[in-house]
Amino acid sequence: MAFIKLNDLEIEVEDGTNIVEAARQHGIEVPHYCYHPGLSRPANCRMCLIDLYLRSSEMPERQLATGCTTTVRSAPPERKIDGKYDVIVRTDSPRVIKAREDILEFLLVHHPLDCPVCDQAGECDLQDFSYRHGHDKSRYVEVKNVPPKKDLGPDVLLYTTRCIVCTRCIRFCDEVSGTGELGLINRGSHDEIDIPRNHAGTPIQLLDNKLAGNVVDICPVGALISKDFLFKSRPWFLKKENSICSGCSVGCNVTVEYKEDGLYRIKPRFHEDINQHWMCDDGRLGYHYVNNDDRLQLPQKRVEDELVTTQWADALSLITEKISEVESNDIVVIGSAQATNEDNFVLQQFAHDVLKTTQLGLFGQQLGEEHKFPQFTIEADKNPNTAGARTILGSANGNVVLEGETLWEKVAGAKVVYLVSGVPERALDEAEKEALSKVDFLIVQDILPSAVTEMADVILPGTTFAEKDGTFTNSTGWVQRIRKTIDPPGEAQSDWLITQQIANQLGGEFEYSFAGEIALAIAESVEGYGDATHQKIGDAGIKLA
Ligand code: SF4
Ligand code: SF4
Repeated sequence: MAFIKLNDLEIEVEDGTNIVEAARQHGIEVPHYCYHPGLSRPANCRMCLIDLYLRSSEMPERQLATGCTTTVRSAPPERKIDGKYDVIVRTDSPRVIKAREDILEFLLVHHPLDCPVCDQAGECDLQDFSYRHGHDKSRYVEVKNVPPKKDLGPDVLLYTTRCIVCTRCIRFCDEVSGTGELGLINRGSHDEIDIPRNHAGTPIQLLDNKLAGNVVDICPVGALISKDFLFKSRPWFLKKENSICSGCSVGCNVTVEYKEDGLYRIKPRFHEDINQHWMCDDGRLGYHYVNNDDRLQLPQKRVEDELVTTQWADALSLITEKISEVESNDIVVIGSAQATNEDNFVLQQFAHDVLKTTQLGLFGQQLGEEHKFPQFTIEADKNPNTAGARTILGSANGNVVLEGETLWEKVAGAKVVYLVSGVPERALDEAEKEALSKVDFLIVQDILPSAVTEMADVILPGTTFAEKDGTFTNSTGWVQRIRKTIDPPGEAQSDWLITQQIANQLGGEFEYSFAGEIALAIAESVEGYGDATHQKIGDAGIKLA
């Protein structure tokens, strides 16, 4: 550990920590633009300048240093300053304050100052640092550069006038995605970010990689803008909740931003062991199904080959009646790799304690492609909770969970199937369709009309990851919390709550009132999940042993 004096604080920091991070850890802001903890450090914006005292506490170094590239390290005793400090730093000296003001003045020379119409206003480092560290007026009276707005790719626009040429976006494409689509053209104050073009100016490579949306997040100003979010909402009107992406089994940590009428955007949240600072565009832009107008809102039942809406009480009594007519061995219960551990736990309890069946299967999104980038992987399993669902459904029946061909063979021979889906979009292959067509009574719990709801005798409207609390277990054994943001549409309900009502109609005595209570039951009874209570999981998640 290094012992440093930071302004008037005496602090210990890990060897190798840079001054921007050391200050951040102790609540001191060192403003910066080009520095990003997930990227290399070119120190080109000069905004993080600090006063450094390496030899004497009386005399700072001759020149200001960049805080992002100044790392601290424990020095031998004979080199300590004042006999005890490894380094002395001031982030608030008059010449640091003056340098920041001057740099901000430079950065604003060609900036359009169009905050009232800029998507980034309210979360813009240029706006914020200008208020906190800048001049209140510009001395620049000449004509500003007005380079053209550019369409860089499927979801990213460049408002070139707002760019401060920090190069974060270029470094992201070089270092993290490894796709290298972005570069600098022109020189000096005419520098512009661009994609490769031919002599006629036609793009020959778009910013079209599956991690491209991250450049919008890391752009410290409103230069890189997501087309998906453009002009949709001022950021300060959005509520935010920590959650987990449901797009694949990586389990990226995210912040869901929403209003009462639906989700507006999803942004990555740092997790050192899972997704660092990033997420993929499939996850980022994949939330639209939650807001879909076609969402299932009311139970439905089949009447003379037509599905018609009905009351919950009617749907539940129809289910109770049909299940009561058959033997345990004629029932197959299918949990979902899209549902939470809590949903699947109540389902297996229902199967085990009430239906007395061990025929439990797993349904989910079909395998997609795996994508490996230099610093990020998108997994082929497009379900957020395959690992959790397998373990938890299996806890009822000696860990045998039916999947693939074995599952569909059992389904084909069953009289009643209760299938919890929650999969946003999934086609059925011929074998799956044929198996389901043989079932006498098919209960489907789902979120949208789908290939499985088309075949159902009763449809129960369930909830998406954005409408319930619970946990997912990712492919590397991290158990992490999702949190309710918006209300489900119409009369849709949490999946575990629906199962609990069916169970209780059939003589069960389930009394769960919230997902955290179910997590406690999981912790008590599922091997390996002893610490997986919502309280212990918190925002950091826990890794299964
Ligand atoms: S577009 Fe944004 S991230 Fe890229 S160089 Fe300009 S300011 Fe930096
Ligand atoms: S990698 Fe997977 S979990 Fe992460 S954002 Fe993409 S889809 Fe979501």
